[in-house]
Amino acid sequence: MASRLRTSTQQLIFLGVAALLMVQLGWWINLQVRQSASLLEARINELKAGRAEAWQMDSRLMVPYYAAPETSFHRGVVEGKLPKTVPTLAQRTQAIQTAFPHVKVVESPVEWDDPQLVDLSGFLTLRREPIQALESARRLTLWRAALEGAFMAAGVLFGFFLIYRKLAEEMDLKLRQKNFIAAVTHELKTPIASLRVWMETAFDRPLSGEQRSMVRDRMDQDLERLAELVANLLEVARADAGGLELHLRRMEVAHWLREVCKAMDERLGPGSLGLRVQVPEGIWVEADPKALSMVVENLLSNAFKYAEAPRSTLVTVEENRDSVLIIVRDHGVGMPLRELSRIFQRFYRVGDEMTRSVPGTGLGLFLAKEIVARHGGDIRAASLGPGRGSSFTVRLPRPPARQSSDAMTNSGGLA
Ligand code: ADP
Repeated sequence: MASRLRTSTQQLIFLGVAALLMVQLGWWINLQVRQSASLLEARINELKAGRAEAWQMDSRLMVPYYAAPETSFHRGVVEGKLPKTVPTLAQRTQAIQTAFPHVKVVESPVEWDDPQLVDLSGFLTLRREPIQALESARRLTLWRAALEGAFMAAGVLFGFFLIYRKLAEEMDLKLRQKNFIAAVTHELKTPIASLRVWMETAFDRPLSGEQRSMVRDRMDQDLERLAELVANLLEVARADAGGLELHLRRMEVAHWLREVCKAMDERLGPGSLGLRVQVPEGIWVEADPKALSMVVENLLSNAFKYAEAPRSTLVTVEENRDSVLIIVRDHGVGMPLRELSRIFQRFYRVGDEMTRSVPGTGLGLFLAKEIVARHGGDIRAASLGPGRGSSFTVRLPRPPARQSSDAMTNSGGLA
């Protein structure tokens, strides 16, 4: 509950920071857009001012020709100084274009504010090219801002995603470690307490032969449980330290697997697994028999733990071009699809420690995965869903064909 609460607080902080960043980015893009719009407007206004100056220039040139001869203007200021002939529209147009290259003379207005030349024979408009160039510069600025913004947003979001995932992983591992300690404590305490009770019974009470053998069996089971836990813990510690050394040898699967299944069936209570073993003869693998036995034992132990009696467990072996598959199927509690890959993580157990009824440490499948990986293979789980059983497939590479099946080394199992 507490961890769930922490997770959602973390998610909220993450979402809050991401939203803040997005708002800031939006604001930045908006600023870019507004700046480029006002730059464009200023430049167009400049062009229009140039057009107004052109109109004034033309007006100053032409007004004296149209002023009445009797005005003081004619008589006083410019009389006698005017050229003999009135300039033609073509000459005036030429003069305007030389002085103002962005201004163009047209026959009729193109824009609503195109001013008329004084003698009404032309209108002053702006050339489209500079305006189009400004427009496309503006579009370019917008695209650049949008792309830079999107790139930045994607980068930052990706960074957040990575940090968030790392944090979630760390929290998950911490939780699993806590569960693991609780589980190991329970797994150690229970058989020890049970052994104490049986020991007191054996030594303090007079028992019949039958009772004595029953007590002995129970003590054996408790010791077995402790031995399995300690072996798993040691192997995981060894794997962590890089000391999980394999002593590979070429071995025939059928004989070895039948022996492992038989021993496990006896350990768990003869017949309690409802075990059927279907292994064709003559399939060979290159493996460490002791390490691989540990994998199969863990799978069978799980088939026992996670199924109600009467159980039905099937062990089969298949062979294809490159691999040998050892498959363990049960009709037990099964699991949801999303758990199938997680159960191989260290300490991972399906469900909540408080609600779990089956004892365990979450190490068995982790160890199985490590061992199989060191054989160059892999292990996968499948289930049709809760209550619909599970199957585990160990895939080992098929060894190259050989004439003889002699051992590569004689030392067996994990050292
Ligand atoms: P442990 O059994 O000690 O919890 P494992 O690593 O062997 O640890 O298994 C991890 C988890 O995977 C178990 O806690 C259980 O939830 C689930 N699991 C493993 N085998 C089976 C199975 N045959 N059927 C259903 N669930 C399984």
